[in-house]
Amino acid sequence: MSAKQKKSKFFKNPLGMFGKNIVYAILIFLAITALYASFAEREEPEEISFSRLVEEIRASEVLRITVEENKLEVALKNGGIQTAQKEPDAALSETLINYGVSSEALANVTIEMKQPSGALFWLSALLPFILPIALIGLFIWLTMRQVQRSNGQALMFGQSRARVINPEDQREKVTFKDVAGSEEAKEELLEIVDFLQNPQRFLDIGARIPRGVLLMGAPGTGKTMLAKAVAGEASVPFFHMSASEFVEMFVGVGASRVRDLFRMAKKAAPSIIFVDEIDAVGRHRGAGLGGGHDEREQTLNQILTEMDGFETSDQVIVLAATNRPDVLDPALLRPGRFDRRVVLDLPDIGEREAILRVHAVKKIMDTDINLRKIAERTPGFSGADLANLVNEAAILAARSSRKTVSQEDLTVSIEKVMLGPERKSRVFSEKEKKITAYHEAGHALVAASLPNADPVHKISIVSRGRAGGYTMKLPTEDKHLYTREYFLDELAVSLGGYAAEETVFGEITTGSSDDIRKATGLARGLVTRYGMSEKIGPVAWDDQSDLVFLGHDIGHEKKYSEEIASLVDMEVERFMKEALEKAKKIVREKKEKLSEIAEYLIQYETIEQDIFRKLMGINQENPSLVGA
Ligand code: ADP
Ligand code: ZN
Repeated sequence: MSAKQKKSKFFKNPLGMFGKNIVYAILIFLAITALYASFAEREEPEEISFSRLVEEIRASEVLRITVEENKLEVALKNGGIQTAQKEPDAALSETLINYGVSSEALANVTIEMKQPSGALFWLSALLPFILPIALIGLFIWLTMRQVQRSNGQALMFGQSRARVINPEDQREKVTFKDVAGSEEAKEELLEIVDFLQNPQRFLDIGARIPRGVLLMGAPGTGKTMLAKAVAGEASVPFFHMSASEFVEMFVGVGASRVRDLFRMAKKAAPSIIFVDEIDAVGRHRGAGLGGGHDEREQTLNQILTEMDGFETSDQVIVLAATNRPDVLDPALLRPGRFDRRVVLDLPDIGEREAILRVHAVKKIMDTDINLRKIAERTPGFSGADLANLVNEAAILAARSSRKTVSQEDLTVSIEKVMLGPERKSRVFSEKEKKITAYHEAGHALVAASLPNADPVHKISIVSRGRAGGYTMKLPTEDKHLYTREYFLDELAVSLGGYAAEETVFGEITTGSSDDIRKATGLARGLVTRYGMSEKIGPVAWDDQSDLVFLGHDIGHEKKYSEEIASLVDMEVERFMKEALEKAKKIVREKKEKLSEIAEYLIQYETIEQDIFRKLMGINQENPSLVGA
């Protein structure tokens, strides 16, 4: 039963409950009345007057008279039965004699006295009192039972409705073999598999088994699949639940579901709990406008409590998936909770080919299928999109009664999937791909050309989140202190994409907006926080700590004069302009290198560090030195 059905049933009940009970009560009442009436309407003996009785006695027609209080039941010799009334408080024989019945005639009649007792008497006396009480009692009982049942329903609410995949289930089982590409993610998760398989080895040495792993990636990049694969590889039960299913109308239900889920998983340990869409409950608390959401908060707290409560020996690992890591509550990411993070990118061209292959194996394909060609034409497709594409092609082939899927089917399906309602990731056009390639190449080139910037780690033009591509830079060593030179170089790197777009295409796209926003923030920080502007000097004009969320920023007011404000703005502008000039100069001077990087990106979509160094002719020992 789905959550919705359950809910609606519950809400209908309070009304239905009374309605139903009234119907019950009326039915029972009718039944009793009918029973009562059937007693009352029993074949009535003929009622005669007392004087008629006297006559009958005189005529010796009467055999026996049964006296019950004032009621007389007269049995006639001919077998008939009659009733009559006598005067109250007077003996029957006396009354008869008074009416002139002779003692001889009277001697012929047997007179029986009958005590007014018997069940029927009592029943008939008490029924008028008992019946309403009984009905009321019945009504109360039925109501109570109904309430109890709906209580039970609320209890069932509290039970998690997690789906479980047992390791024996071969049909549902997924292993790393089924997941194409995502090599880095698989490598990181291999460790988790190891933990689950040989916990003792880790416990013996005193290592703490990780509790939570956060899988981050766009929809359809295979987060669920990968989590299942971890369970499949380790041969442990897999408990799957979406965080949005925790949240119900009633506060506390989510928390109780979490408790139940963890209880089940602990019982089955070693096991894996997979919480999909963790952002549904794990949003940054107190960030949004319009107040918190009690139910979400309680559910989140319960998840955290459960994770904190794991014993070292508890072999339950929680995998959670989200495509919005930016909105997550920091409490979730603290050590001992989801302190491991695995990023799943949209697949690059090589990975797309591999994913297509994995899914093509399950279908009957023409022998001359070229999956590389399809991969080339599907930048921005997620794994789910590609799976969908292969399936669409198979449907197309089946509809035209062919036995195998052709290249043509695949090609036609690209468009279908691209326009289809189901895909959530974005797709590039050829032109967009080119612009993104030059943009990212710009960042990378500037980074590699400036001595104080962090070295380039990886470049990709496969979209991640909102940005079209990304250039990942990692510092060579941990930094705690940042120099002015470092910031200035980083500022230029941020604008490298912008500079490249302008230099190569002569126009700017919206693809740089995020860079500009970040760079401006950095420049403002230089001026108002770090005292790195000569004109303004070491004054902190900005005493607000990291303002990440809109919610915090409300009621923010400037604490400095208009003159200072305009001075700050001018300094920020100057830093930005100088940085852009620096970036543009590099891009212009090394335009050939830029094209080289960009063309490589267009072809392969990602560049790893070693290949980038080769492209740039960077000395391996001293990566900050640029050869070319
Ligand atoms: P997510 O949880 O990230 O939204 P799923 O794990 O539900 O994505 O993936 C949806 C489907 O897409 C999977 O069932 C699988 O068929 C396909 N898929 C995604 N990534 C891959 C991959 N790397 N290799 C093979 N199939 C994939
Ligand atoms: Zn950029």
